[in-house]
Amino acid sequence: MADTSLISSFGFSRFLRISWIVGVIAHTTYVFIKSVCEQSVESSPLQKRLNPTASTVLFFPDKHLACRQLLFEGRCNRRNCQFLHEETSLSKLIRVLLGAKESLDVCVFTINCRELADAVVLLHKNGVVVRVLTDDEQMGTTGSQIEKFRREGIQVRHDLSSFFMHHKFAVIDRKQLLNGSFNWTRQAVTGNRENVMITSDQDIVKAFSEEFEALWEKYDPCKRTQLKAS
Ligand SMILES: [Zn+2]
Repeated sequence: MADTSLISSFGFSRFLRISWIVGVIAHTTYVFIKSVCEQSVESSPLQKRLNPTASTVLFFPDKHLACRQLLFEGRCNRRNCQFLHEETSLSKLIRVLLGAKESLDVCVFTINCRELADAVVLLHKNGVVVRVLTDDEQMGTTGSQIEKFRREGIQVRHDLSSFFMHHKFAVIDRKQLLNGSFNWTRQAVTGNRENVMITSDQDIVKAFSEEFEALWEKYDPCKRTQLKAS
C-alpha cells in the first residue's frame, strides 16, 4: 500500500508540473502574439486606410504657394523657382485628391485655385468619374475654373438662386470626405484662416454622399423649370 501511494503521489506531482509548464508556455505564446499584432497595427503605414474612422485635419493658410511643377511632376528644375518645395496643406490636400480611383464628387461654393483645378482635370483625364457642384453666382467670377472643367468634359451643375450653394466638401470614391471652411481659392490657400477635415468615417461619408446626390438631382438642368429658389 505504501509503495502504491508513493507512485500515485509521484504521478500526480508530475502531472501538476507538466500542466504548469504547458500553461506557462501557452500564456507566454498568447502574450507574444498579441503584442506582435498590436505593434503591427500601430506601426503600419496602412493603419489610417485600414481604420474606417481615421481622420485628420489640414489648416490654412500656407506660408506660400506650393510649386506646381513639384506637385504634378514630382520635381522642379526651374532655377530660382519662387514657390515652396516643402510639404504644405495644399500639397497634402492635392495628394489626397489624387488618391481617387473611381469617383470624385466636388461640392464647393467657389473654385479659382488652378492647382486644385489641375488635380481635378488630371483625375478626369485618368478615367475617374468627376462631378462638380457649385454656386451659380461664383461661376462667372474672375479666375473661376468652372469653364475649364466644362471644356475638359467634366460634368458641372449649379444652383440657380439668390442664396448661396455654400458647401465646401468633396467625396472621394464614396469612401473619404474632405470638408471644412476651405473654399478652393488661392486666397484660401495663402491668405485665410481655413480648415479641411479629412475623414473615412462611413456614417459621415454616407451623409455627405447623399447630400451630393440630392443636390445633383435638384440642379439637373433638365429639371430647371421645377427649380425653386433654394
Ligand atoms: Zn519649383
